[in-house]
Amino acid sequence: MESTRILLEAHEIPTHWYNIAADLPAPPSPPLLSDGSVARPEQLGAIFPPAIVEQEMSAERWIEIPYEVREIFRLWRPAPLVRAVRLENALGTPAKIFFKYEGISPAGSHKPNSAVPQAYYNREAGIKRLTTETGAGQWGSSLALAGQMFGLEVRIYMVKVSYEQKPYRRMMMQTWGAEVFSSPSSLTESGRKILAEMPDTPGSLGIAISEAVEEAAGRADTNYALGSVLNHVVLHQSIIGLEAKKQLDKIGLYPDMVIAPCGGGSSFGGIAFPFLGDKAAGDKRAANLRAIAVEPSSCPSLTRGRYTYDFGDASGFTPMMKMYTLGHDFVPAGIHAGGLRYHGASQLVSQLYQAGLIEAVAVPQLATFDAGVQFARLEGIIPAPESCHAIRTAIDEALKCKESGEEKVILFNLTGHGHFDMSSFERYFSGRLEDYEYPAEEVEKSLAKLPKFG
Ligand SMILES: *Cc1c(COP(=O)(O)O)cnc(C)c1O
Repeated sequence: MESTRILLEAHEIPTHWYNIAADLPAPPSPPLLSDGSVARPEQLGAIFPPAIVEQEMSAERWIEIPYEVREIFRLWRPAPLVRAVRLENALGTPAKIFFKYEGISPAGSHKPNSAVPQAYYNREAGIKRLTTETGAGQWGSSLALAGQMFGLEVRIYMVKVSYEQKPYRRMMMQTWGAEVFSSPSSLTESGRKILAEMPDTPGSLGIAISEAVEEAAGRADTNYALGSVLNHVVLHQSIIGLEAKKQLDKIGLYPDMVIAPCGGGSSFGGIAFPFLGDKAAGDKRAANLRAIAVEPSSCPSLTRGRYTYDFGDASGFTPMMKMYTLGHDFVPAGIHAGGLRYHGASQLVSQLYQAGLIEAVAVPQLATFDAGVQFARLEGIIPAPESCHAIRTAIDEALKCKESGEEKVILFNLTGHGHFDMSSFERYFSGRLEDYEYPAEEVEKSLAKLPKFG
């Protein structure tokens, strides 16, 4: 034990997570039940362990990372911070471009940063099984890994289109001992209902969440785990920004811009919020900091959605959260960045966007692959399609610096590698990858079904 402790210190893994709820300009809007009443902690306790419920509602600025969690993080953390010199040179920009490489985790993305503590707290609470949904497969594989580390059974509802397109992600989850089903499935009432109405649906994250939550709510030995969106997930991901800050500090730098892809918002909040915390504390270096969330133009929750209360899932099982949403039953076109298909965005990210403290941009699919391929050829790492969104915007900002001659420091979150997304790259190379327009009509239809209460 003693020697591991020394190792942990040598690894410089942060000891506490940063919680931006302590530094918000106004108190966060509470989750509501469908009748408009405020959701109570006991109700969240039906599917989450006590420590997670506490973190979900906490306004403590610093929350300790359990020792056993840090010990597992030691497998890959701290994640490297890399300066993309070859990319800078190819662009001819005076900007310094850095990326935090989260693809180095065993599952290949940032998602184990939250899967590991979630599995730990569930085991501490005596839970035996976890259910979850997965879109592209990254969250499912992360939870399968984490469940295995703490001796929990894991059952995963995988969005049908990904289940079919990404057999290797499924096998990865199975290798880590998880059970994987295509969603909608006939195992749950919500799955059977959707299959009866729309037998050919490609599935969606919202539908898969309904299935996983239904099962967890119905069994005492089973809890649910969510891979993004919720406050405790954003909290866990703050380890990315905290490490990046230390790493930049060692070379005397501070970012002018922090950029990340935005699906549910945890990878964006994870890298950006510790810097926004500096800004809230009056740190002069952060005075002009820009934090930019990048979303696909085919699923533009922040840039085209409505800021209102909506359900987190398609069937209305979860409490409602105040967030930017495209409507809970919005099913985006078959975009390749599966991790960015969610209909809403974290309420913390949404609240900061509403307050004008962060920015958001939507980028079309082809332009993200252009950027990802350029990056792979210069920097060697093949990025996940989700991560390509951040690369696109980092390149665009670096090119603006070229015009203005400004030597800005750009930091972006390279959230994962694209080794299981080669069929998307294949479509891109053969010219079969399309841009999907913002489906204004579909979104209107879905927004018309927003919950009404009070
Ligand atoms: C899930 C995922 C995202 C999106 O993350 P959010 O925290 O939901 O915004 C981005 N990149 C990769 C590689 C992912 O797996």
